[in-house]
Amino acid sequence: MMDWETLLEMRWPKNACDQSGECCRGAAQSTPWKNLLVQAAQGDPTARAFLNQYQPYPSLEAAIAEAPDAVSASQAIADQRGEQEESLIFYRCIYLQGKNKCQIYEDRPALCREFPESPFGAIPKCCGYYPVKQDCQHKIQTLRDELAELKRLQSMLE
Ligand code: SF4
Ligand code: SF4
Repeated sequence: MMDWETLLEMRWPKNACDQSGECCRGAAQSTPWKNLLVQAAQGDPTARAFLNQYQPYPSLEAAIAEAPDAVSASQAIADQRGEQEESLIFYRCIYLQGKNKCQIYEDRPALCREFPESPFGAIPKCCGYYPVKQDCQHKIQTLRDELAELKRLQSMLE
């Protein structure tokens, strides 16, 4: 059993990216593309930034062919949240050349610089951050189990 100090140590690493390009080829949105267009036309800066960077795939099959791990990671998160997998739309970044060459790497948007923001997001299995996500999830489950045990012991004292 890990001690609490180790369990609470969930540092998110920097530089674990091996530049697979999977996240650039498989960005997901649950807002339909046409709705994003309307939001962008109404001046929504987030919708504008997203549409300036990403183009939707013509089909789910096309997205799976390009970024299978990113698609399944986003679908798993949708499942966890009780959302419909079918409502996800997948996109590819327009700045990506080939499989993994970012044409604006030095000036890439904050969204890319900060990916993945946390271990709770959709992180593809092939991603260099994935093992850390797994480790964090294991620690969180262990902490939950320990908390449940403490509550059980407390109830025995009452
Ligand atoms: S999926 Fe992970 S390893 Fe691949 S480019 Fe994105 S951050 Fe880097
Ligand atoms: S701007 Fe570059 S790093 Fe960001 S998604 Fe596009 S290709 Fe990937």
